[in-house]
Amino acid sequence: AEEQLRQVQKMEAVGRLTGGIAHDFNNMLAVIMGSLNLLQRKLAHGDADVERLANAAIEGTRHAAALTNRLQAFSRQQSLAPERIDPNNLVTGMSDMLARTLGERVRVETVLGAEVGPVMADRAQLENALVNLCINARDAMPDGGTLTLATANAVIDAAEAKNYAIAAGEYVLITTKDAGVGMVPEVMARAFDPFFTTKDVGKGTGLGLSQVYGFVRQSGGHVKVESAPGRGTVVEIYLPRHHGEAIAASAAPAAQRTQVL
Ligand code: ADP
Repeated sequence: AEEQLRQVQKMEAVGRLTGGIAHDFNNMLAVIMGSLNLLQRKLAHGDADVERLANAAIEGTRHAAALTNRLQAFSRQQSLAPERIDPNNLVTGMSDMLARTLGERVRVETVLGAEVGPVMADRAQLENALVNLCINARDAMPDGGTLTLATANAVIDAAEAKNYAIAAGEYVLITTKDAGVGMVPEVMARAFDPFFTTKDVGKGTGLGLSQVYGFVRQSGGHVKVESAPGRGTVVEIYLPRHHGEAIAASAAPAAQRTQVL
């Protein structure tokens, strides 16, 4: 239990540090991008070499901006647009896309709980988080296998809530489970750190789980991982169950929306 709280506190500290860097970098990149765009417009057209260089600089800057965006997601600086989501609907709606993304070797199995949710969350970010987890599951099963996506209602009691530094109460639990290579304790301890990856250069950025973590924490929830080498990995996402009326997020005033978080 204390170990869990320590882990949460460590992520807080890493998040603050990363957030500061990402924020400043983002500002600098905006300046660079603005200048590059102006420069590109002023270029004498026809000089293919110069145009190619300008395009390469812009492409590189875009890449860097995408990276700082992911870091900002981790450090919970992302502007979220929460809406009322039926988790079972969301998971069902993703299954075709997941099947395409994960390839033939991975069988996606969904286990939907009864009357799950709803949650208030940013739909695009939640989908993105689940895709990240599913891609990790695929990568952990190089010979293929079954990936299970499950939904359920859950209750976090006061003791658990304290360990995770979240509110006690009703949550929605979305789980991904693979029968892949699993993680040794040293990897698991660092799996959520930004830029931590065990994958080959070009294959992993080490930002997938940190993004998941930041998004879920910013949404008032918690992420739990269980893993054993050779046995597979279970990632549990807890999001606060939403009890408000069924008003569309866009119709709710901004102040009310943030409060739901
Ligand atoms: P990336 O996937 O780019 O490496 P992540 O932050 O998503 O970045 O994951 C960090 C590391 O955590 C991975 O490199 C891997 O070692 C480990 N990991 C994450 N998910 C799983 C999983 N389902 N099974 C085994 N290892 C995993």
